[in-house]
Amino acid sequence: AAVLGLESSCDETAAAVLRADGSILAEAVLSQLAEHSPYGGVVPEIAARAHLDHLPRLVAQVMAEAGLDYPRLAGVAATAGPGLIGGLIVGSSLGKGIALAHGLPFVAVNHLEAHALTATLPGLVPDPIRFPYLLMLLSGGHCQCVAVEEVGRYRRLGTTLDDAVGEAFDKSAKLLGLPWPGGPALERLATRGDPARIPLPRPLLGRAGCDFSWSGLKTAVAHAVARSAGTGQDRADIAAAFQASVAAVLADRARHALDMLPGATALVVAGGVAANQGVRAALAGAAAQRGLPLVAPPIRLCTDNAVMVAWAGIERLRRGLTDEVGHAPRPRWPLEAMAAPAAAA
Ligand code: ATP
Ligand code: MG
Ligand code: FE
Repeated sequence: AAVLGLESSCDETAAAVLRADGSILAEAVLSQLAEHSPYGGVVPEIAARAHLDHLPRLVAQVMAEAGLDYPRLAGVAATAGPGLIGGLIVGSSLGKGIALAHGLPFVAVNHLEAHALTATLPGLVPDPIRFPYLLMLLSGGHCQCVAVEEVGRYRRLGTTLDDAVGEAFDKSAKLLGLPWPGGPALERLATRGDPARIPLPRPLLGRAGCDFSWSGLKTAVAHAVARSAGTGQDRADIAAAFQASVAAVLADRARHALDMLPGATALVVAGGVAANQGVRAALAGAAAQRGLPLVAPPIRLCTDNAVMVAWAGIERLRRGLTDEVGHAPRPRWPLEAMAAPAAAA
């Protein structure tokens, strides 16, 4: 049995087919970078139309690659929130249509749950990770420490008081004159920089709890850029200092969060910022200080993809958690509002 997963919540159009044991039969991701870059950010209407243009073709492609006909699927899982409503409607409507046409169960997947469960995909790490684990969700729209207690059972330990960490990367990159999306470009620039020459603040470092605040750091980047002569080296040094600050703060917050979840078996990172090598190294250090492994999915599974959506669908189907075709996509959908297996029984 296999499950088809669809992702269309932001600017990645993606489809994947996974066997119930988690093995990946086919996966495809189409980034809409070219469509949005003239605007310096994701334009919701353009995103929705691009999903409409590309998703049906990607679905046909992964089904062909998997060598499956629709009736042989065990279910269809589509991201139904949180995210941009136009894209959510495109993906979940297509998913429901396929499910209805072939009499298959439909699963409305929470995008954050999909990020959260990626680390439990079999074969990702030698020893399968067990609940509970600490998830740091570090993406373009979110910055949270979450206790993952079970599929469907999440407890938020800390969150950002202002910007998401990916947003901080993107805004700081823009201030440094880098093209959108800024995260990867800033990381490349930082490799040539000296993080100690133009030090930047480390917001909330050492403070109790595991909340985050990034807007002050972004403002400090703006001041540093304005004060500098603007040479290539200045920009590289500011990028390096920014990344060092973010990494140090994330490590500090991770240590605090792990202390708030004494039974944690691992520190797991997810979301696009988890692709950053400086961030990964700092978090690995924090986890090691608490005697725990850091589990970081491969980069293509950290950023938006449909493998994680299909896997979340498989985990929910296994527990009998399916959704009606009348299920409405939700632009806002916090993890704590998930239907836990116990609540569904
Ligand atoms: P959400 O999952 O919260 O809805 P999203 O889907 O837009 O948001 P992701 O696709 O998970 O977020 O991540 C995108 C973010 O990750 C962007 O802000 C991008 O700049 C950042 N990012 C990607 N690669 C890197 C990197 N190497 N270093 C730092 N940041 C990165
Ligand atoms: Mg994206
Ligand atoms: Fe995401």
